[in-house]
Amino acid sequence: MSEILTELISTARYLSESGLVTGAGGNVSARDGDGMWISPSGFSFEDAGEDDYPLVDITSGDIVKGERRPSSEVLMHLFIFRQRPDVQAIIHTHPKMTIALTSAGHDLKPMYADYYVYLGGHVPHIDYVTVTTPELARAVEAEMKDDRARGMILRNHGAITVGQSIKEALFRTMAVEEQAFIQWHALSVGTPTYLSDDELKKLDELGSEDYRRKLLAEMKG
Ligand SMILES: [Zn+2]
Repeated sequence: MSEILTELISTARYLSESGLVTGAGGNVSARDGDGMWISPSGFSFEDAGEDDYPLVDITSGDIVKGERRPSSEVLMHLFIFRQRPDVQAIIHTHPKMTIALTSAGHDLKPMYADYYVYLGGHVPHIDYVTVTTPELARAVEAEMKDDRARGMILRNHGAITVGQSIKEALFRTMAVEEQAFIQWHALSVGTPTYLSDDELKKLDELGSEDYRRKLLAEMKG
């Protein structure tokens, strides 16, 4: 079996155990040559195994391996992979703190270094578009074709993160929900202090990219 698929399945199960999705919610994909493995439609991450994940050709959108239907958000994944050769993995979840906070009109803003290091300074927030529709896929594509975007927020729906590895996309998803958790709690007890432009610039100067890559390398295995 493809090592990429093995890692994708274990990541999907971890997302489910972490409460970032419920039931058949959310979807994940990873590039493998000219194709992408994508979670199947109608399965929870716990239940979907290696025979359930279809391999879809990124250019044509045809299923080249597997019997199951791909996730109903398959277009969203195809559009991102087509626009972003740097992206190897895409994670779409329904993280509760993120949905609650952003649907109430708050944008996620860096309050601590990790969120900024993982997500960078450009995290688009878009208003609700009906789930599973081509309109949603187009709205996502419009934001994610900007290669500064490592993730984005879908108000009243969830989050999408991308990565040069599955692990990177996973850490970015976790950092989004962690930021929402921190921001929510700060808002509930007072007025949060956000990192200033100057402080963010200093993080850039620290070589946050190098730091992040080091973190990822250390986490491997
Ligand atoms: Zn969704």
